[in-house]
This record gives sequence, structure tokens and C-alpha cells, in this order.
Amino acid sequence: MLDFRSEANSALNNAKAELEANDNKKLKYAALELRIAIEALAYDKAKTLADELPIKEYETWQPRKLMLILLEIDPNINKISSVSFGEEKEFGVPPDDKDMHFLGTEQPITFEDIKKHYDALGSFLHMPTLGQLQKESVPNYCKLKERCNLVIGILEKILSSPVFNLNIDCSSSVSCGNCNATIRRRLPIGLEKVEAHCLECEATYLVSYTGQESAVDWAPLGKYVSCPNQEANCKEKYFLFKNEIKTGVQWKCKGCGCDVYIGFGTFLKNKA
Ligand SMILES: [Zn+2]
Ligand SMILES: [Zn+2]
Repeated sequence: MLDFRSEANSALNNAKAELEANDNKKLKYAALELRIAIEALAYDKAKTLADELPIKEYETWQPRKLMLILLEIDPNINKISSVSFGEEKEFGVPPDDKDMHFLGTEQPITFEDIKKHYDALGSFLHMPTLGQLQKESVPNYCKLKERCNLVIGILEKILSSPVFNLNIDCSSSVSCGNCNATIRRRLPIGLEKVEAHCLECEATYLVSYTGQESAVDWAPLGKYVSCPNQEANCKEKYFLFKNEIKTGVQWKCKGCGCDVYIGFGTFLKNKA
């Protein structure tokens, strides 16, 4: 697979070269390269979590949208983290700080970096609209140069991190009650409960610590609904996962054999 980090590095170098030309007409090429570098860094993070990323999100190209999905999987991927290691003199007892060897600190690309700069750089890559021309908000090369330099500083810091894509994975897994596929969910440190989705059928579960050591409980999220076939006095009940509760979803009732579907309805809250 493509080495996104080295792609980001080369896009960053290209951006610097465009800026060094000191030609306003070349600034937009610097902005374009910086956007590519940001994309590459976001995709690099996605690669780290690829096993937990729903397949359909592999098509997500907008870095901001992608980062939000990744943060849902692991909120720690945006945090600055350091790695140290040390030998336990006694099994299970962490070594003293003085016996730890420091490996380095990772400065990751963050959602905030992307939100602040990705679209702002993009706004210089298009022809101004009639509305912008009316408001005289035409490209300001001085501002663009300033922003490019700011983004270069951020990317240099990220790309010079001696350790990167740290992946501390504390997770739990079960067999999906709906389709039998294995669902794995990270349990980020500090969170009592998280939602988990089956990558096959999208069924949703709530995973929470039970309070007993590191045991967790998986509870399907959804609702029981009754068969609406009152004529046949059908008593069949179904569990619908949260993602299935939407108009148009249909199934065959096992009790009376009727086709049942979810539709819109209006109800009186109180009579006038
Ligand atoms: Zn499933
Ligand atoms: Zn029925």
C-alpha cells in the first residue's frame, strides 16, 4: 500500500519549493500541495485503524469527515503521546521512572488542524464566485502566503515526530447477534461506555464496563416492536436494531406470515 507519510513529506517539499519561487501565481500550487499533505496524513491515520473502519468509509476522501470517523473509533489518535519502555524487575510491577527508556513523542495531525486549514487553503483554489466578487472578497495573496507558512510549520512538526501512528489497542469483541460476524470495539482509556457497530450489518451495541475488573457488557441498541396484524391477533414481537428503525424497512412476520414494514404515522398527543 502507498506510503502516505512519505507522500505527505514529498507534498510538503513541493509546497516549500513553490513558495520559494516568490511568485504570487505559484501560491495556489503551494496551497494544493499542502492540502494533499494533509489528506495523506489523515489517510495514514485511517490505515492504522483500517481493520476497524467500516468498508464504505474507505471511500471517504474528505480529511475532516474521515478524522471524525477515526475519532469515534479511538479518541486518543488526536492526542500528543510519548512512548517509553522498561524492564519489570518483578513480574507485574511497573519499573521506576529512572529505569524507563524514552523513545519519543508523536505530534499527530489533529481534527482541529484540518478544520482550521484544509478548507481555508481550498478557498484559494477556485475562481471567485459572483457573490465573492460583489463583496470584493477576492484572493488575498498575502494572507494565503501567511497561511501556507503556518501550515508548513504544523506539518514539519508532525512529519519530524520520531515515533508515529501509535496504536494502543485495548478492545473487546463479540459475535453479532444479527449476522454472526465478529465485532471488535476499542475501549478507549477513560471512557465508561462506547457504541459499537457491526461492520457487516451495521447493528449497534452499547459496550460498557461492568465494574468487575476489566469485564465488559455488550447490549444491543434498539427496540422491540409488535406485529401490527391485529385481525389475526398476532402476538409476534421483533427486536429492531437502532439502524433498522427507519421508514421503508420491511420483514416477513414469523407468526402470521404477513409482510410488515415501517412507515410514517401521525398520532394525537391530546384531544382539543
Ligand atoms: Zn452484524
Ligand atoms: Zn404477525
